[in-house]
Amino acid sequence: MSAPNAAITLALSKGRIFDETLPLLKAAGIEVTEDPSTSRKLILPTTRPDVRVVLVRATDVPTYVQQGGADLGVAGLDVLLEHGAEWGNGSAGLYQPLDLRIARCRMSVAARADFDYASAVRQGSRIRVATKYVSIARDHFADKGVHVDLIKLYGSMELAPLTGLADAIVDLVSTGSTLKANKLVEVEPIMPISSRLIVNQAALKLKREPIRGLIQAFESAIPQE
Ligand code: ATP
Ligand code: MG
Repeated sequence: MSAPNAAITLALSKGRIFDETLPLLKAAGIEVTEDPSTSRKLILPTTRPDVRVVLVRATDVPTYVQQGGADLGVAGLDVLLEHGAEWGNGSAGLYQPLDLRIARCRMSVAARADFDYASAVRQGSRIRVATKYVSIARDHFADKGVHVDLIKLYGSMELAPLTGLADAIVDLVSTGSTLKANKLVEVEPIMPISSRLIVNQAALKLKREPIRGLIQAFESAIPQE
């Protein structure tokens, strides 16, 4: 039951993932014909009649692809790890063929400059950590044997240590300027983060040729060091 002409749906999130995926698409000969910053459309056509882009929240990209709402998607490793942890068998049906090396940053622990993180760790104190990335944080501190109380937040993590809500945060850092602006210091890197191509496994079987073609085109467009 092959469907070589079936349309392909690619899920992207607005902002840096959309912006940084565009050049990869372009290298694959695909251009998005509508600008999401001025258009209110959530489904964007492309110059390839069989390929369309759907715009969803970054954290919804794995869900769309896993459930077949999109055939492919681009999601940060941060989002994929949290998604996988939240759903028991989180990555079932999700094929991750490529590290696209875009939207690169790192997950880190940061604290107020006057909080002595290293000595709190040495003394075995309980550290209050605010984060959106509860699963990554839990695994990191468990690996290090650090006692933490995790406080789940949905945004503006930098505010937590400044208000006394937490001693430290786990957040994404790229240039460090957001931390600096809030007088926070990066005290421990956790892992490098980049965006991955994810593919619905059933779609890969049903639309094998066009999806294989897209994966190959993406692969040859990945930015090198
Ligand atoms: P929103 O900011 O709209 O609440 P979001 O934070 O999920 O949504 P983005 O800020 O666009 O969306 O981040 C999308 C992805 O880009 C993240 O999941 C992460 O992989 C990556 N990313 C986030 N912050 C940075 C950063 N400072 N530098 C590089 N990549 C980043
Ligand atoms: Mg953001």
